[in-house]
Amino acid sequence: MADKSSEIKRRPETLAVHAGGLQQPVFGEVSPPIFQTSTFTFPDAEIGAARFTGAQPGYVYTRMGNPTVQALEEAVAVLEDGHWGVATASGMAAISAVLFGLLATEDLVLAGDCLYGPSYTVIARELPRFGIRSRFVDTSDLNALAQALAQRPKLLFLETPTNPTLQITDLAAAARLAHDHGSLLVVDNTFATPYCQQPLVHQADIVVHSLTKALNGHSDVIGGVIVGRDPAWHRQIKRFVTLTGGVMDPHQAWLILRGVRTLALRLERAQANALALANFLAQHPKVAWVIYPGSPDHPQHQIARQQMHGFGFMISFGLTSGRPGALALLNNLKLINLAVSLGGVESLIQHPASMTHAGVPAPERERLGITEDMIRFSVGCEAVADLEADLAQALAGC
Ligand SMILES: *Cc1c(COP(=O)(O)O)cnc(C)c1O
Repeated sequence: MADKSSEIKRRPETLAVHAGGLQQPVFGEVSPPIFQTSTFTFPDAEIGAARFTGAQPGYVYTRMGNPTVQALEEAVAVLEDGHWGVATASGMAAISAVLFGLLATEDLVLAGDCLYGPSYTVIARELPRFGIRSRFVDTSDLNALAQALAQRPKLLFLETPTNPTLQITDLAAAARLAHDHGSLLVVDNTFATPYCQQPLVHQADIVVHSLTKALNGHSDVIGGVIVGRDPAWHRQIKRFVTLTGGVMDPHQAWLILRGVRTLALRLERAQANALALANFLAQHPKVAWVIYPGSPDHPQHQIARQQMHGFGFMISFGLTSGRPGALALLNNLKLINLAVSLGGVESLIQHPASMTHAGVPAPERERLGITEDMIRFSVGCEAVADLEADLAQALAGC
């Protein structure tokens, strides 16, 4: 990968704007072209053969590699302080590639007990069909984590902050514990983005993202990526994605790279809005509780301060009027969109117990803290006064 950042230290805002270009610009273009081609001609038969063996660099066929897709892979790898990236058709394709690409029959995978729903289902239901065992643990509890790791899983998979409970796991401690037990640490960094948190810097081995969310940021494309440092994992994952075909398309990559360019601007605004709205909600008489990693009363606020550069754009909260109040609030809003997904420039709000987490059995939801009154709020880039006014008018009728 071309590394334009090696000469001077570049800050994350600058990297978001510049990281990831073509290795060889064609006409000095500022924005990398969309190489909308499925295949690439070879200058001669010998070079064609050498490209196939890998003896010579160069493109062969877009499922195996494409310059526009590679520009995005490089951008996210640089932002995560990684050495390589593999882009995929969706976030779930990235997560599946790590799990199915690295695990084998009889391996054990240990996962956080509060995960994005389909990640939980793949680990709990799909992997066992191939003889891969799975266990779940609250990774924010380091004693429980150490105990679970004693079974020596091949891989530990976690999210921090978690969805939708926004619990924080100490990444450096989790990495140390995982490595002490011979396990790899894989982190789904979708909620934080590399702008707020870089798990590889805390010694995680592999990071996955749903690029659909804040990295793209415009609620208009699906995509995923896997990032790491160790070339051995790159070879294994790249091989798996190329063979099984869950690759990213060049047009998809171009759109997402365009979104990455404004990552810092969008996140600065969204997280400033989130902090202000978390404070507004905490003081509102109809709001029973608020969870936001940036609030000093968040149970793991100190860990969040240590390992995050910013506290992100996600807030969860509940109303004194419980589930009926939560549903009334969603129906009363006039500006904030009632929709699942997150990380777009527009604010999105939803009710996890009946929407994103409806598939989790009710007793398990209660145990995880996904209560009936919980509202999950992805704060966007609108004027904060407009968002506050919308919440205020909606709360008045709850
Ligand atoms: C959305 C999401 C995913 C899945 O991503 P898709 O792009 O929808 O496949 C995985 N993990 C987290 C935390 C997510 O929010």
